[in-house]
Amino acid sequence: MTTNRLDALPLRPELRGKSPYGAPQLDVPVRLNTNENPYPLPDALVARIAERVGEAARDLNRYPDRDAVELRTALAAYLSRDGFEVTTEQVWAANGSNEVIQQLLQVFGGPGRLATGFEPSYSMHGLIARGTSTEWVSGPRRADFTIDTEAAVAALATHRPDIVFITSPNNPTGTAVDRETVIALYEAAQAVKPTVVVVDEAYVEFSHADSLLPLLDGRPLLVVSRTMSKAFGAAGLRLGYLAADPAVVDAVQLVRLPYHLSAVTQATALAALEHTDTLLGYVEQLKAERDRLVTELTALGFDVTPSDANFVQFGVFDGPGGAHAAWQYILDRGVLVRDNGVPGRLRVSTGTPAENDAFLDVVRGLKKEHS
Ligand code: PMP
Repeated sequence: MTTNRLDALPLRPELRGKSPYGAPQLDVPVRLNTNENPYPLPDALVARIAERVGEAARDLNRYPDRDAVELRTALAAYLSRDGFEVTTEQVWAANGSNEVIQQLLQVFGGPGRLATGFEPSYSMHGLIARGTSTEWVSGPRRADFTIDTEAAVAALATHRPDIVFITSPNNPTGTAVDRETVIALYEAAQAVKPTVVVVDEAYVEFSHADSLLPLLDGRPLLVVSRTMSKAFGAAGLRLGYLAADPAVVDAVQLVRLPYHLSAVTQATALAALEHTDTLLGYVEQLKAERDRLVTELTALGFDVTPSDANFVQFGVFDGPGGAHAAWQYILDRGVLVRDNGVPGRLRVSTGTPAENDAFLDVVRGLKKEHS
């Protein structure tokens, strides 16, 4: 139906026959499919958001601060917490890190340019590339889902990309990329031509490893992208940001829509940043629950990919129907997980302890029925 309607429209050729990104949004008791934070924002923060948004509402007759300076300053202070100092001029914010990625592809990609990432990885990198008429080439990963530096360097030499995406921790596999690999890929890319290397750290607050932010030092074409959707429990807010050389921040302003970040968004994000310590406390609980999921799934006999994120990839489902049949079995029992299309694997986001227990009960049953 939709396809027929779309077929009648004069779409750009590269969009013909394509489907929009869409994780199912199903109304089931336990939703563990989009790597959201399961904890609602605490009451004190909700009250502070109401207060700050109330203040912002008085000025809604005016356009918001186009450069979001107060927010970028607060984000820079947040990024500087671990000792590597990031300035306001190095930070840029947009409506979700998806928009940050789109702006980067609009500036550094586009017709005649090529982007690459090491798949399986975050599918939106390739989809946003397509949306900006940037060619996309998939780079290799090992069978254990880590990046094989030598093979990746060879792929960069072959494809000569203009933009490289490195997702750490990676989605959907959960694996973090070590700093030596990022340095090697950055250098290999620059050896061919000036190349923007984007480290997507959407999940870094959940990692056992440190952020790769300090690598910005001396690497003017490195970009680290972050989001408030995961660790800050604010997926509904739509606030993503990047840290990079100030010249990159100047560059994205060539394509950003004027006043792209609403006054309501800026006020809400600022309120959330005031409550950073509380929100990072939830992150600690989620990390412990993530580790419990890894331990229990492993004990059940699943092949579990080590995780530095707020989700866990598990399998191997090689019976009839593969991973999709297992996904349906789990859904039929009230738990929604994600089938990312990685053969034989599913991904489960870390929920509350009760949600994780519900999930583990279901997969225990699945294991029993199929062994
Ligand atoms: N990067 C990665 C690796 C992600 O998994 C996601 C969301 N699932 C995003 C970026 C986008 O997040 P948002 O637009 O909500 O900031």
